[in-house]
Amino acid sequence: MVKVMTKTKIGVYENVKQQFAKASDLMELDSDVREILSKTTNEIIINFPVKMDDGHIEIFTGYRVQHNNALGPYKGGLRFHPMVNLDEVRALATWMTWKGALTSIPFGGAKGGIQMDPSKYSQSELERITRRFTFALGNNIGPEYDIPAPDVNTNPQIMAWILDTYLSTIPPHERQRCIHVVTGKPVESGGSIGRNKATGQGVVFTIEQWAQDHHFDLSNVTYIIQGFGNVGSWAARLLGRHGSKLIAVEDITGIIMNTDGIDPEELDAYVKENGGVKGYPKSEPIDKDTFFGLEADIFIPAALENQITAETAPLLNVKLVAEGANGPTNTDGDIILKKKGIDLIPDILCNSGGVIVSYFEWLQNKRSEKWELEKVDSKLYKKIIAAYGKVQNVTEKYSTDWRTAAYIVALSSLEKVYKERGIFP
Ligand code: GLU
Repeated sequence: MVKVMTKTKIGVYENVKQQFAKASDLMELDSDVREILSKTTNEIIINFPVKMDDGHIEIFTGYRVQHNNALGPYKGGLRFHPMVNLDEVRALATWMTWKGALTSIPFGGAKGGIQMDPSKYSQSELERITRRFTFALGNNIGPEYDIPAPDVNTNPQIMAWILDTYLSTIPPHERQRCIHVVTGKPVESGGSIGRNKATGQGVVFTIEQWAQDHHFDLSNVTYIIQGFGNVGSWAARLLGRHGSKLIAVEDITGIIMNTDGIDPEELDAYVKENGGVKGYPKSEPIDKDTFFGLEADIFIPAALENQITAETAPLLNVKLVAEGANGPTNTDGDIILKKKGIDLIPDILCNSGGVIVSYFEWLQNKRSEKWELEKVDSKLYKKIIAAYGKVQNVTEKYSTDWRTAAYIVALSSLEKVYKERGIFP
């Protein structure tokens, strides 16, 4: 059996470049536009000090990369993870530009993060780290300029601290009209209902559409999930409501399997209590090779980049990969999936539900409105399925794979805007 190696995230940006080059060649993207989009606009790296609970000072490195704002303000999440680095944040920022363009929301692309392991810090240390980074970013973020949101290991509480810190730095009379400086906030602090589940909900909307197109009955399918954070747990729970059977889950603590089915609601409660899937009673532990080789209908990677690679893709025994994570499949992985006839709903489509509902949150804040869940969900459904349809058409038009087609849809809209506006001066 092939041994699965856990790859580090070296060269994720190289992945983006290869995906971008493939789509640009195929669609014959204007060479000037290609030049512009092949670079990020701003790259901010900040080393900042924070006082720890025991009184000593620790220096953290934070990043914010702004890739492009031709279609609207920079937009994208902030992640707290030991592997955060400039190469990764560049890649993630660029994917956000494509995501906004593909789903026709008026946002550009950005991403940021702090290189750290949040599990090593107390709640009050996390708060000070978040606030100090927000303060250090200063006017590099803003409600009409660059709008952060949750990502890996960040959550509504962290967004509330960002909001509060940002508002404290501007004149009092301007504060109420600036709460859209960050999205993914707690609902009471101006967040949108439905934002917390939005990424997982979007993943499931696209899977439903795929199932319908392929005459698959979702009450009769099996699925495996990598990652049981916000995206993975919501995708698992929402797919579970169709009667689909979850048979294995991998997260940072371990890998569990039960071919008779794992109850996603129960697992969710267990993970909230215990911090991970490891030790979940109604399951057995398995190794990575077994996990990747499991026979199932759907695989939802919902963790980090570079998981479906030359090492792991040959093991896969599924019909569909639905990318809840950003960049889970590298270029080698893509080639192998195609050879094996495994369908793919690419990240910039599949996981776009998060930023789509972030857009709805931003709009609600600007208009001082509070929408109901039904409205949020139905607008999300319309937007993500419209993008799905566009990608499907382009796949047929260019006889290409779904990732390249998604890029072509996104790049065409960016190309149009650059052609209309030209370049100053
Ligand atoms: N971090 C999420 C993503 O990668 C959401 C970004 C946002 O809502 O701005 O799409």
